[in-house]
Amino acid sequence: MKIGFIGLGNMGSPMAANLAAAHDAIGFDTVARPEGMTLADSAATAAKDADVVITMLPNGDILRAVANEIYPVMTPGAIHLDCSTVDVESARAVAAQAEAAGLNAVDAPVSGGIGGAMNGTLTFMAGGPADAFAKVQPLFDIMGQKAVHCGAAGNGQAAKICNNMILGVTMIATCEAFVLADKLGLDRQAMFDVVSTSSGYSWSMNAYCPAPGIGPQSPADNDYQPGFAAELMLKDLNLSQMAAATADADTPMGQAARDLYAQFVQSENGAGKDFSAMLPRFKKRTRTKT
Ligand code: NAD
Repeated sequence: MKIGFIGLGNMGSPMAANLAAAHDAIGFDTVARPEGMTLADSAATAAKDADVVITMLPNGDILRAVANEIYPVMTPGAIHLDCSTVDVESARAVAAQAEAAGLNAVDAPVSGGIGGAMNGTLTFMAGGPADAFAKVQPLFDIMGQKAVHCGAAGNGQAAKICNNMILGVTMIATCEAFVLADKLGLDRQAMFDVVSTSSGYSWSMNAYCPAPGIGPQSPADNDYQPGFAAELMLKDLNLSQMAAATADADTPMGQAARDLYAQFVQSENGAGKDFSAMLPRFKKRTRTKT
């Protein structure tokens, strides 16, 4: 397959490298110039003649700008596979634009982070036509370990932000419960042993425990170096609340999690820390004095 890959940042660069080992791939980025990758001098050059153009970009506005640039030169019937995390509206707008241009669009944001991108173990959640999803399945197999087709255009983004809204909320709940346990004199290991095998269990507690030295190895054991950075969690929570506003969905816990991560990132030195660093953040506070 001939692949154009646009957006060669922390995630895109290793994903493109994995694909280039098996396919004819050419990349483009406005800033990054990763070694070992064949590079084009513009997004349009990377996209022209490609069977599949993959984008891995920071946000929906940039995705829309790149779509405007590449759709006029793409081969009719080619597929635009967007793996960025963007707002549902942008994903759906770009998909409609692709269809009007005689192209196929699949939105397939990922979970698994930079480690997953390097090791080819990402999970993709995809929206778009079933036949286009089937055509890019071999590429998912190289870049990841699992791809779930979630339905029509934008549904990949919908699945991603719903998942991460649950994750943000459960991480905060897990962190504040650890701090309450500390104040009640309950040993953290005992707390983990009970909750991880009781009805309070979750991925945040069982697989990514925010308390250092407890449970499996996690960023808490590495001074809260990310992992999954708090500002990326904030990005996803912002997207969830944008979508909730558009769809008129009542999401008070998602909103509260968004507000807490915004405060943490913007005024409490949370930027650059793992999202599980909410635990030391709560630890520093009291109920009456913040
Ligand atoms: P990044 O900032 O490292 O990479 C984005 C790249 O896009 C940059 O190299 C930038 O120069 C390039 N770019 C910007 N505008 C461009 C344009 N017009 N044309 C071509 N290139 C352009 O970000 P990242 O960490 O690689 O994340 C990419 C996407 O993946 C984001 O949507 C992010 O939310 C999502 N994501 C990231 C992670 C993670 O752990 N980093 C995990 C899951 C999902």
